[in-house]
Parts: sequence; C-alpha cells; structure tokens
Amino acid sequence: MFLTGLGCTVCQGEYRPEPSRYVCDRCGEVGTLDARYDYPAISRVVDPDTLATNPDNSMWRYLPLIPVEEGTRVSSLVVGGTPLIRSDRLASDFGVRELWVKDEGRQPTASLKDRASAVALARAAMEKAPVITTASTGNAAAALAGLASGTGQSAVIFVPESAPEAKVAQLLAYGATVCLVEGNYDSAVRLCQEAVARFGWYNRNTGINPYVGEGKKTVALEILEQLGWSAPDAIFVSVGDGSIIGGVHKGLKDALTLGWIDRMPRIFGVQSSGSAFLAQAWSDQEDVVTKKSIAAQTRADSISADLPRDRVKAMAAVTETGGEWIVVTDDRILEMIPYVSARTGVFPEPAAAAAFAGLAKAAAGFSGMDGLGRVVVISTGSGLKDIKSVMAGLDRSGAEALHIKPGPTALDGLELSK
Ligand SMILES: *Cc1c(COP(=O)(O)O)cnc(C)c1O
Ligand SMILES: [Zn+2]
Repeated sequence: MFLTGLGCTVCQGEYRPEPSRYVCDRCGEVGTLDARYDYPAISRVVDPDTLATNPDNSMWRYLPLIPVEEGTRVSSLVVGGTPLIRSDRLASDFGVRELWVKDEGRQPTASLKDRASAVALARAAMEKAPVITTASTGNAAAALAGLASGTGQSAVIFVPESAPEAKVAQLLAYGATVCLVEGNYDSAVRLCQEAVARFGWYNRNTGINPYVGEGKKTVALEILEQLGWSAPDAIFVSVGDGSIIGGVHKGLKDALTLGWIDRMPRIFGVQSSGSAFLAQAWSDQEDVVTKKSIAAQTRADSISADLPRDRVKAMAAVTETGGEWIVVTDDRILEMIPYVSARTGVFPEPAAAAAFAGLAKAAAGFSGMDGLGRVVVISTGSGLKDIKSVMAGLDRSGAEALHIKPGPTALDGLELSK
C-alpha cells in the first residue's frame, strides 16, 4: 500500500491513517481529509504499459492508487470496468465535437457508488470492523449492502423514508439492516453519525470517510485509460454531496502527477435548481466552509443535499480545473431521461440525467468553433432505480405505448415511433 497519510483540505493539517481517523480534529466535519501517496514508488510498479497487460478489468487494476491492502478485498462482485460509449447522435444534438458516456448504471448494484463501497468494505476489513454503517439517499446504501452480501460483514443503513421504493427494496433484498428515517438525507446522516459514536461501527459516510473518494476516483482513471490516456476537454458530473466530483478530480490529478496524461480536463459540476448549494456559492462567491446549509428539494434524490459534505473538494474540482457550475431544473432532468435513453441506449436515473441536462445547457452557451471539444458525461446510476421518475419524464416527452386489442385489424395502421 502506498498511502502515506491524510491531509486536511481546509487547514492542511496532516494525520496518520489510523483506524477511526475520519475528519480533521481542528476543523471538524468540514475538514475532510485527502489521501496522500508516495507517487514515485507507485510509478515504479504501475504505468500505462503495465496496465495494458493487466487482465483484471475491475477497479482494482488501479490498486497501487487505492488505499487498500492487497488481499483485504471483501466482496466477490466485480466493480468497475464499465463501458465508455461514444454517442455521435447526442454529440450532434448538443453541438459538441465528440461525446462519450461513462455508463455507471452497469455497476453490480447499478450506480457509481459501488466503487466507494468496495473501498470502504476493504478498509473495514483491514480494521477488523464487523459492522459497517452509512447514511445514504439510497445508492451508497445499496452499494454497501450489495457488496457486503455474502460476506461476514453486517451493513446498517440509514435512508430517508422518502427514498425511491426500488432503492429500499434493493437494500432489503441484499439483507441489510435498514432504518427508514423520518425527514431528509441530512436527518439520516445525523442519526447514522450518532450510531457510529454510540456503537463504534465502521463509518462509510460520504464526506466523513476519507477513503470512499479514492474508490470513486477510479471512474476517472478508467475514462482516461479507455480514451488511450488522451485527456478529454471536459467532464460533466452531477453533484449532491460533492464526493464523486471530488473523486473525479483526484483521479485526474493522480494521472497528471504520474505523467499518464499531459493536461487537466475542465470539470463541470451540475446541480438541480432545488439543491444548488455549490452552484450558488460559486456564483455568489461565498466560502463553502462558512456558507449556511440550504433546504434542498429535488426529484433527483441522489443529488439532494442541504449541506454537501464534500463541499471543499467539490468546489476545488471546478475552480482548479477552470470548469463551471451549472444549474438545471427538475423538469429538464426528467425530460432528459427518455431523451438520452432513446439516443444512446444508456438509461439514467434522475441524478444521472442531470449531468446530460447540464451539458445541453453548457453546450448551448459554448457555440464557438470547437465548442466544448471532446466531452465525457458520467451517467452515475440506472433508471431502474427510480421508475416513477422515468415515467414522469415519459409524461413530459409524450412517448406512450400503443394500446391494442387483438383481432384481424389490430395491426392495421400501426405507426412506428421512429
Ligand atoms: C451519489 C450520486 C450522485 C452524486 O454524488 P455526490 O458524491 O453525492 O455528489 C449522482 N448520481 C447518482 C446516481 C448518485 O448515486
Ligand atoms: Zn483541518
């Protein structure tokens, strides 16, 4: 393992990666910690050439860049290795030169969160913690429960009672202890933190656990490798707590530090207008460390956050790469579900569709010669997670089934939708 320590993203204080070390003592919860590595040593064991001959297509092909000891991986599910799909159709619709979609709905529990939970479970095993807990809007919990299923580790999950029913069903099916908490995601987080303090369980919470982002960053490493280590110009990510966008930034920084790419892509963060803490802070030039929490309300449940827990890393991802924050309405998000599905075959849940809506909006404002250039959109989770929202999107698109009564004339005048 090449982890050398943990650094506070607010005060730069350094910590040793000991068990139960989560956030900075001085800064409290806003002081999220960032994993530091011995990059010269990493470059001696892995590079694009060795990766090219590595038959392991899962996220663990980047093990030297993940803070997990060899042999401590717990789950037998295969996480990572999701397809990067080129869509010329969507590119020409949006007016961008080249468009790629990273389909994280193809993960074993159907969202990008599997990358984070895989690392958290391995860390819990390294620390010999039998119980691991998280609060979640649904996907982080499903990832934890799914990857813990069939292992000796117990998962205790706190989700808002308003979570989409497919997500709750998935958790229960995986055999986790599920607590449906009255209130929103932030209420679930508070209760989960209380459980950690009371019972000493391993804490997977986003923005608290310093290692989960190190799993999420593997999506960026995969994108770069799938593009032949030629950096795209822009990456679009939907943002709630800000952990995915922070992870994407970290993966890109790792690759740049190691000389695997020669420039940093711009990172675009997309938020729902009902949950736009970071976008607001950016346009009002507010400090995310001191900005007060908002009252988030959005149909895109996976990106609903009153106070994004990884706000410091998230803001840095956009500002340090010359990216932008983009706000889209829930109506646009819902419309985007059938729109993207019909054009790419990738089927996004609302939070994932938000990233496409953000690209559509940004591309309209970048109508230069080359526009945004070569763009990647991360489709973070599957539409099967929240079928009611997919149906709400279909209502808006006007797509509907033909109702047919079987009989000799049933197929007369059948009209194709395309
Ligand atoms: C968690 C999640 C997000 C947002 O990630 P954050 O780290 O909370 O910003 C986006 N889309 C999906 C599908 C998610 O599950
Ligand atoms: Zn600090």
